[in-house]
Amino acid sequence: MTDHLTRGATFQRAAAGALAPITVQLHRGDGVKSPWEQWINLDVRAVERAAACAHAIEPDEGYIESAANARRRVGLALLACIRDDPGLDPLSAFDRVFSERSDWFSRPLTDWLDTLGSGGRGAVAAEACAYAAGVAAWLGSNRLAAVRFSGPSEHLDWELPSRTVRVRGRCDAMIPRGVRPADRRLLVVVGSLDQADGAAGQAALAYTLARGSVPLRVTVLAPATGSVVIDVDDDRLEEALGRVADAARSVVAARFGPEAEPSAGRWCRRCGRAGECHQGDAWLATNPVRFGGLLPSR
Ligand code: SF4
Repeated sequence: MTDHLTRGATFQRAAAGALAPITVQLHRGDGVKSPWEQWINLDVRAVERAAACAHAIEPDEGYIESAANARRRVGLALLACIRDDPGLDPLSAFDRVFSERSDWFSRPLTDWLDTLGSGGRGAVAAEACAYAAGVAAWLGSNRLAAVRFSGPSEHLDWELPSRTVRVRGRCDAMIPRGVRPADRRLLVVVGSLDQADGAAGQAALAYTLARGSVPLRVTVLAPATGSVVIDVDDDRLEEALGRVADAARSVVAARFGPEAEPSAGRWCRRCGRAGECHQGDAWLATNPVRFGGLLPSR
């Protein structure tokens, strides 16, 4: 077995060991049932939220669609169009994708897009076009053709054998396109390079667990400010796994431990409870940000 596969299998075993105590808590056998169906969906890009605010990870019904939340999913569809039809501009790609939206997107996102008037559609177009234009400009036409962009709803998933915990992650693209192991370079798009180390570690961990193979490196791109290339070593994966385990403990403690107050911070920007959480809304109102310096974001 080659080294990247051996290391991948090692990290799958390490993750199972790190998360095993949480599995025991979820099956503690005293009649307390988990509010989730069978498992905790622990998006590894959301671990900062989970560790910082006990209320941040909730079942899916707490999720609210918005132009900012749809930016990446719609933007990925635009990029796939632009890659396959060189010369297509982002706004024309948006018109095409929007008119074929039920082919591109999940039912909940399609249903939400169906509700939009011209203003809402324009807001989504602005967000998605900024995302797609930023990524396409950074790649350039030569590299654009060699990239496999993630699908709008594509995840890197790995489940504990007990199916109580699912570690879910994502990357924006794999470079180059092709058959594994050639696709072991990942691209992750972020709003600020301050997040680069954490984003690279989380994407690398998700890929390692889902594929049983350690990626070579992760490029983290903030479209307006630049990019960094980060090699994936075992220390980085162990650090990311530690954050996932911490977040899983936080989620379980929030459900089975004493009541805790919501704790607001930058993690509120991606929390599905924004709009209904007083603490989060107050923080967001006083801390506006710009996506990579390009667009206002909530
Ligand atoms: S919006 Fe509220 S629940 Fe969500 S992370 Fe912020 S403080 Fe926590």
